[in-house]
Amino acid sequence: MYILLMGPPGAGKGTQAERLIEKYGIPQISTGDMFRAAVKEQTPLGLEAKKYMDNGQLVPDAVTVGIVKERLAKDDCKKGFILDGFPRTTSQAVSLDAILRDLGIKLDGVINIAVPDEELIKRTTGRQICRSCGATYHVTFKPSKVKNVCDKCGGELYQRDDDKVETVKKRLSVYAAQTKPLIDYYKNSNLYIEIDGKQSMEDVYKDIVASLEKSK
Ligand code: ADP
Ligand code: AMP
Repeated sequence: MYILLMGPPGAGKGTQAERLIEKYGIPQISTGDMFRAAVKEQTPLGLEAKKYMDNGQLVPDAVTVGIVKERLAKDDCKKGFILDGFPRTTSQAVSLDAILRDLGIKLDGVINIAVPDEELIKRTTGRQICRSCGATYHVTFKPSKVKNVCDKCGGELYQRDDDKVETVKKRLSVYAAQTKPLIDYYKNSNLYIEIDGKQSMEDVYKDIVASLEKSK
């Protein structure tokens, strides 16, 4: 199953990917996670990406496409993958088409999780991530059992630097200008599926699985 998960920052892509990778036994390819890992390790890629991430801007297309191309060529992507947070510009989408063509892969579904801006601000500003295993929580909507401690591994929970309200507003405007037009790009294919992301995490998950199963 080759799935593309789209949606604005905070829509629930990572939350849903966490469950979909288990159901389908395929890897999640999140460009945001890849950049955060590079920032943590202070690699040249991380130092470059950080300049953009801290300001809520997109990392340049050439850099982003390069890491995705390398990742999708790995063996674990042969049976499928969930792309989360890529593509984010029309140029990235065109590059993805070429990468998939070269690999002989056809997408099974393009899932867009739609959520209004007021809700996105609540979701991002309350988001917490585990420093050790990367699991996602929310102070109100999905609190950990013990405050600031991961239920799964006992790791420390932290707030992403770019989840502060001012950076979130910038990211939402970047989304509207550069990423939202991609909806039309994919609407022209018969792969596009829009999911009501305002629902509970469970109902969003059920809707995604039902539409993927229908498209098989
Ligand atoms: P994205 O990967 O699209 O940026 P996340 O999956 O990290 O978004 O979700 C953003 C925040 O919103 C997280 O704190 C998550 O726990 C919470 N969240 C995700 N889906 C829902 C939902 N359906 N209802 C309420 N909160 C949600
Ligand atoms: P995310 O974890 O998907 O919210 O991404 C966090 C940040 O990483 C974004 O605000 C961008 O700075 C950068 N990023 C992630 N994916 C991409 C992408 N496809 N293109 C450009 N920048 C990206």
